[in-house]
Amino acid sequence: MNKKLVIAVDGYSSCGKSTVARELAHKLGYIYIDSGAMYRAATLFCMENNLLGDEQKIISRLNEINIEFRLNPVNGNADTWLNEVNVENRIRKIDVSDNVSQVSRIKNVREKMVAIQRKLGEKKGIVMDGRDIGTVVFPDADLKIFMTASPEIRAQRRFDELVAKGDNISLDEIISNIKKRDQMDENRTESPLRKADDAVVLDNGNMTRNEQMEWIMNLVASKIQ
Ligand code: C5P
Repeated sequence: MNKKLVIAVDGYSSCGKSTVARELAHKLGYIYIDSGAMYRAATLFCMENNLLGDEQKIISRLNEINIEFRLNPVNGNADTWLNEVNVENRIRKIDVSDNVSQVSRIKNVREKMVAIQRKLGEKKGIVMDGRDIGTVVFPDADLKIFMTASPEIRAQRRFDELVAKGDNISLDEIISNIKKRDQMDENRTESPLRKADDAVVLDNGNMTRNEQMEWIMNLVASKIQ
């Protein structure tokens, strides 16, 4: 098990990419990077500075956005920090989800994020999840997984997650956010969400977490010789 891999996990919103990618990284002793968190943090910056809707303004202030991942000693996860503030919980709220696709479609925003992501992957031994990891960020990734499940199943999962965190939100609101984001992410000009030709599809609608991990670990084993 010496060869260190770059593993890309792409797919639709809320299909459990981050859960699977984090667990996989943990099992392999790899770094886990949630690339969606970076687009969410950039979106939060735009919201806090009243930049939404004005692409030129967003582009002109990109150099003020500093995003880092720092280890949370309590749960061992990497939290997202924006300009020295821990925004890990804030960026998961529905208002950020509602605005993120309009920020992530901007070419200059993507260029900045992709540069950071590639730097993080330089030493290999990384699992990164997102929308364009296998197609754009790491086109030479050793293993590419494309995850999917029906919008209803995904919405129910996100609903359970947010309610457990104490959010007051309706299932309909989540279904509509997920469908809208999928539509925008798939149809944007810059790096649209799409399965890389050499990615393997994981439709996890009817799979338990353990079944998913077993499926992925078999693939990983075939790549590590
Ligand atoms: O993965 P998550 O749902 O947190 O991603 C939030 C949003 O960030 C997506 O809806 C998409 O617009 C954007 N994103 C992206 N490229 C990535 C990861 C996320 O455009 N690699």
